[in-house]
Amino acid sequence: MTFDPQRSLAQVRHEFGEHGGVNMSIEASTTFTVLDAEVMPEIFQGQRGPDQGGCYLYGRHFNPTVYVLGRYLAALEGTEAAYCTASGLSAIAAAIIQLCEPGDHIVSGDTIYGGTHALLKEFLPAKNGIETTFVNIADHEALAGAMRKNTKVIFCESLANPTLVVADIPTIAEIAHANGSQLIVDNTFTPMLISPAQLGADVVVHSMTKFLGGASDHIAGTVCASQKFIMSMMDLHMGALMLLGPTMDPSVAAALSLRLPHLGLRMAEHSRRAQAFAERMAERNLNVVYPGLPDHPGHDLFRTLANEGYGFGGVFALDTGSRDKAFELMDELQNTHRFGFQAVSLGYFDTLMSCSASSTSSEMSEEDLEAAGIKPGLVRISIGYTGTLEQRWAQFAEALGKVALL
Ligand SMILES: *Cc1c(COP(=O)(O)O)cnc(C)c1O
Repeated sequence: MTFDPQRSLAQVRHEFGEHGGVNMSIEASTTFTVLDAEVMPEIFQGQRGPDQGGCYLYGRHFNPTVYVLGRYLAALEGTEAAYCTASGLSAIAAAIIQLCEPGDHIVSGDTIYGGTHALLKEFLPAKNGIETTFVNIADHEALAGAMRKNTKVIFCESLANPTLVVADIPTIAEIAHANGSQLIVDNTFTPMLISPAQLGADVVVHSMTKFLGGASDHIAGTVCASQKFIMSMMDLHMGALMLLGPTMDPSVAAALSLRLPHLGLRMAEHSRRAQAFAERMAERNLNVVYPGLPDHPGHDLFRTLANEGYGFGGVFALDTGSRDKAFELMDELQNTHRFGFQAVSLGYFDTLMSCSASSTSSEMSEEDLEAAGIKPGLVRISIGYTGTLEQRWAQFAEALGKVALL
């Protein structure tokens, strides 16, 4: 891969604050003055956006602060454009609704974020008449076999939550495009590491709530795609972002813009810690799932897809064998060792731990969980970078010993 997101981010035009501040100002207005009455109709007809001598019009349409953050995210993913939303799920839902009409069909990976799974499996068929077939995304024959004439979208996660299946994005994109369909990739687990748009994805979505935000303090999302697609989502008559209105607040956009410069450093350190933990657990014959381990089924594929220098990501999963064991271990880690927090989510500077089957993936039925390989005792750990690696490993090893896993 020749694309380097860190380099691309550094090349984007820097936005100075109103008074020359090194950080951009927060544009706190919800409405914007039109100086020439003649221009107003053209703005409403979508002929004059902020970049065509028009104005920002209204905060649900465009806000300058949110607009600039979108530019930074487009640079991160190497897409023509991006726009930010109030949550990751709203970014996913809006992108899908923009691409699908009632009667259309989606093929999705079967191992995906629980909220997205519920959206595809229950909400969209009931409310919009859009059906989804779920397949193992690593089984390309099954994937190709599930495609129909009316399949508009293939949806998958770059690294599937929580079992860490690696998506072969170039092959999946080929299957999508051969059918006239578009590929949407949720890149929440692997910002910087994997650049789906460079590998053939048409639309890249993120929950910015996770690694991009990095401090578990804002719910936010983004859609990165072609200029044409982003503008279609902002259309005053047919745009899913404009009309469903999951607007990002400009103060959130300003805060998040300050997290991107050190995203690369953070991802590299998350990965370094996760790699060390995973290797040490594997050496002790624990049942650990991490794409950085040579015996992980997606290890070689990950290496061919990934941008250099950011490792294999900050999340690993440990199969403790049973739900009770998982709970015991998490209680011990949190309450005795202050190793991390039992909380859903990921990408925080401290460690977050959850038992996927009974939390973030609990929207899925028992059969769906089984099919996706999400075992009852699987603990997902998003490893933080506070403290030192050796201090954290000592805590971890002691807790494992206490619950008789070591
Ligand atoms: C958290 C998450 C989402 C949903 O994002 P929100 O910001 O909580 O709406 C979607 N996809 C993945 C992979 C996630 O981890």
